[in-house]
Amino acid sequence: MSLSDITTRVRAAAIDSGRSADSVTLIAVSKVQPDARVEAVLSEGHRCFGENRVQEAAGKWPEFRKTFDGVDLHLIGPLQSNKVRQALDLFQSIHSVDRPKLARTIARVAQEEGHCPDLFIQVNTGEEDQKAGVLPADADGFIAECRDLDLPLKGLMCIPPVEEEPSLHFALLAKIAKRNDLTGLSMGMSSDFESAIALGATHVRVGSAIFGTRQTG
Ligand SMILES: *Cc1c(COP(=O)(O)O)cnc(C)c1O
Repeated sequence: MSLSDITTRVRAAAIDSGRSADSVTLIAVSKVQPDARVEAVLSEGHRCFGENRVQEAAGKWPEFRKTFDGVDLHLIGPLQSNKVRQALDLFQSIHSVDRPKLARTIARVAQEEGHCPDLFIQVNTGEEDQKAGVLPADADGFIAECRDLDLPLKGLMCIPPVEEEPSLHFALLAKIAKRNDLTGLSMGMSSDFESAIALGATHVRVGSAIFGTRQTG
């Protein structure tokens, strides 16, 4: 696979689901990938990337940004409150808003900094103990809390349990978004992005299918 293969498949899946080819944002997940692979994808003209650790992103993206204009960086992994200021500096979107304390910290720091990334609330659709995200039953309440804080809420994000049929989780996420009038749906990874798009994904997070197998992580 390569960037152009995946781009073609994303666009085709969007058209198959009755939407325009450019209605789905392809986030190339560059975590743990060697710089040379990331640079190759940047050189092909792609600008939208995802990282799951603030520290790792801070170590490489300021340098890439000196060479490549218009990088659009998405945080797709957990965010600690004490890293919020750094995250606001680096990322244009955060997909992992998952608790009231974090939402309040983002609201306060965004006020101080004068800008805020687009935000997605992570929903733990599989109700897994080890996974981040609000439980489906708590989603409506948390969405309302974020709106009370005037946060720029774009949509919802989920990571389905590995051993389950992902489409059930995509459908659940879409349902929660719809009843809350949220249009953004961050769902779908290398193995299932086409089924996510069929169920309404607006943002797919694809790593290994673009860059190859990760060395670690
Ligand atoms: C690593 C990661 C991805 C990409 O996974 P692939 O299977 O390599 O496409 C997507 N979303 C999140 C939250 C991740 O951490």
